[in-house]
Amino acid sequence: MEVLQNYINGRWQTSRERGAIDVINPATQAPMGRVPYGKDTAADVADAVEAAGRAQVEWAAVPVMQRVQPLYRLKVLLEQHLEELAETITNECGKTKAESIGELQRAIENVETACAAPMLLQSEFSENITRGIDEFVMRQPVGVCACIVPFNFPGMITFWFLPYAIACGNSFVIKPSEKVPLTMQKVMQLVDQIGLPPGVVNLVHGGKASVDAILEHPGIKAISFVGSTRVAQYIYAKGAQHGKRVQAQGGAKNPVVILPDADLETTSRIVTDSVYGCAGQRCLAASNILVIGDGKGRVKEALYEAAKGRKTGYGLSDGVEMGPVISAESKARIEQLIDQGVHEGANLLLDGRNASIEGFEAGNFVKPTILEGVPLGGEIIQTEIFGPVMSLINLATVDAALDFINRNRYGNMACLFTSSGASARKFRSEVNAGNVGINIGVAAPMAQFPFSGWNDSFFGDLHGQGRHAIEFFTQTKVVIERWPKEWSRKF
Ligand code: NAD
Repeated sequence: MEVLQNYINGRWQTSRERGAIDVINPATQAPMGRVPYGKDTAADVADAVEAAGRAQVEWAAVPVMQRVQPLYRLKVLLEQHLEELAETITNECGKTKAESIGELQRAIENVETACAAPMLLQSEFSENITRGIDEFVMRQPVGVCACIVPFNFPGMITFWFLPYAIACGNSFVIKPSEKVPLTMQKVMQLVDQIGLPPGVVNLVHGGKASVDAILEHPGIKAISFVGSTRVAQYIYAKGAQHGKRVQAQGGAKNPVVILPDADLETTSRIVTDSVYGCAGQRCLAASNILVIGDGKGRVKEALYEAAKGRKTGYGLSDGVEMGPVISAESKARIEQLIDQGVHEGANLLLDGRNASIEGFEAGNFVKPTILEGVPLGGEIIQTEIFGPVMSLINLATVDAALDFINRNRYGNMACLFTSSGASARKFRSEVNAGNVGINIGVAAPMAQFPFSGWNDSFFGDLHGQGRHAIEFFTQTKVVIERWPKEWSRKF
């Protein structure tokens, strides 16, 4: 089976690493290709950084209005190849085709937003800070930048960074997840056609060895990471140790609070979409559902009905609402965490373990699951399950919910469902999380806003997307100028 090539200096190149691992379709277990994997991928990183370093100097000198032209072409190509890219995402990652199209649309929106770089790069100027002296800020590129991305959005996450980085005059190295490298491989076939000078965008495959090479390479100035908190902490610390600018987005355990005045039909539909969309493998998936004052069990009943009717299967089959999880190990881990929840004292209201889908018996399927009455002091309520599992918790007051949420180690998202403006206002102000949804199930910021994780969901200060990305991918230079009249010739 074909081993994927790297894209370095505008050409497809065979990896220096001879070892490779299979890329597996999680619905069928069929191998889809092989990806270079092993310590010699570090040499590929070195080649990519060398090419990127050479390209960056000239790219930075290209006027920004011209630097964004290839992005307009990329937008058109991504739209033209949307179907094919979406099918690749579904086949290597498992999510439904509609979900794959959704993530590609957000990727395209980031390309569009980065096209505003000519405006976004404009800067501050103060005339006469003291008599005859002016002061201003210039925004200049950082140099060679790199991103290291996770498996769960193979088409989108690179785009939180890539278009902004190159619009700002940097060159870029992409390290996709070794579990889902095929989508970016296809995207690079499009990037190859948009008229960028060789070396401005490069793709290298691999796992920890290529990540470590990125972290240690003196030629790389900035690193964008998205993945689990454990690895995010490692990237942030090691990147900083090597003098790099780092933004590292980590894991999550997202709470949703449902007040008694929330609209039951809309809320149960949106909340179950949030918990079970992408089979729960979303850093913004709702996980802990905190129901306030549900003495009669109406909310519980509505969530149960919405969850149990969800159709699980192969993401390209008609009518399927939820695909498999990424790997057999992941399925085993999720099922073990469900067992642990029961062991901790939760009631298994809906059991999605041991799922078998006709025609896809080998797939890594877990059906919608609900753990009810998960103890507040247990481990499951704190653990990122990253699978289709809802933890349902009854609380008496919104203050009790806020108190619980604000002690969580993560802070990626928190949502509230209510028809009360006053409750919403209190919640958005007091909750300890960076992305907040009011009557929204997945508070995913649009491309023009920062993806604003807090606490152990994010290490750094400037986030991906929008203006934050422009700031992350530029360094400011402050210039103070004096031009005395008497030095000028008179005309
Ligand atoms: P992961 O941390 O296992 O892998 C992410 C990247 O890091 C991959 O490219 C991988 O090759 C690399 N990597 C893995 N282990 C490494 C190690 N020991 N040393 C160096 N590099 C290593 O994450 P994943 O399983 O691919 O993705 C799921 C996680 O990502 C979840 O925790 C999820 O919440 C998180 N995530 C967060 C966001 C966010 O915006 N905060 C978005 C998407 C996913």
